[in-house]
Amino acid sequence: MKHGKLETERAIVISMTLSGVVAVLPFAIIRLMQGDTLLFARDITLVAGLIGLGTYVWRTHRTVLASYAVSIMSMAAIIGTVYIKGPQQIYWAFPTVLIIFYLLPPLEALVLNLLGLSILLPKLMLPMATESLMTVFFTLAVTITFSYAFSSRTADQRKQLIMLATKDPLTGAENRRALSERLREIIATHRRRPVTASMLMVDLDNFKRINDELGHAVGDRALIKLVQLIRQRIRETDSVYRVGGEEFLIIAEGATATIADTLGEDLRVLVETAKLVDSRSVTISVGIAELFPEEETDDWLRRTDNALYAAKNGGRNRCVRAREQDASVSDITEGRAAS
Ligand code: GH3
Ligand code: MG
Ligand code: MG
Repeated sequence: MKHGKLETERAIVISMTLSGVVAVLPFAIIRLMQGDTLLFARDITLVAGLIGLGTYVWRTHRTVLASYAVSIMSMAAIIGTVYIKGPQQIYWAFPTVLIIFYLLPPLEALVLNLLGLSILLPKLMLPMATESLMTVFFTLAVTITFSYAFSSRTADQRKQLIMLATKDPLTGAENRRALSERLREIIATHRRRPVTASMLMVDLDNFKRINDELGHAVGDRALIKLVQLIRQRIRETDSVYRVGGEEFLIIAEGATATIADTLGEDLRVLVETAKLVDSRSVTISVGIAELFPEEETDDWLRRTDNALYAAKNGGRNRCVRAREQDASVSDITEGRAAS
């Protein structure tokens, strides 16, 4: 989701820089033909800046910096125009306000617009008749206020949509869609430079029995509590995803196999002692796999899944870690008990 949002943003910023170039370039040529060097210099600087920014976003996929740059450049261009060509150019301020609110978060856009206006107003005050000045001032004020309100509402709605699209409503864990995005990001980075990360697949043991004997509502509460327990133990940067009815996947970035083993064992003991269901203790089985060099998503998932399968076969309530490449596994729980 994060990735998807960034891709949309990227398209928006690139098309804005492109349309900026298309809009300004003809004027630059006209200025040049008219021999107006000052305005030509302004226009051609703007065009060069926009092309540079567009290329930067195209190449790096980084949109935040470019959004600020385009906004500040637009505001600077408008101020420059009014200062050079006079107050009748103030009409350009209206689309500029909208562009800035489109590109920046509401508060930042508000601040930039007010700042720009406070620089523009002194230049308008002397030459303009009071009535036209008042009209410009109030229409701009209304435009800014309305844009701010609109932009804040859109930002709230977007946050809510992202939540609805990426979270499991019962447990608050992230869903499969969010997992796919995250895995895509990790593996994309992993192809450029090795990433240290481990994956833990957690599955409640004999959970069907809990549901059958104590009811679905009790089962639901156990799932919620399990996610709470996992959240307490994992790091702020780790995420937990609900990938099946009673199956959860943890991605621990920066975690080597040894760290992941400890995390898995800690969780296993934590869940066993927490007694997820009032009267009895519920256990989990955990499959663990560290991402190995050049591994792809499917293989990493498959190794984790195999490890979980081995944990179930080994008697449940245990952590098993997949080895590299081949199908062999290590029983972490047994290994610790023995040493
Ligand atoms: P195992 O130890 O092999 O994992 O056995 P199990 O019973 O946990 O596994 P199985 O796959 O046979 O059953 C999973 C059960 O999880 C089936 C269903 O009753 C329960 N379950 C799945 N989703 C939910 C849910 O959202 N709420 C509740 N309460 N139960 C769920
Ligand atoms: Mg189960
Ligand atoms: Mg299961």
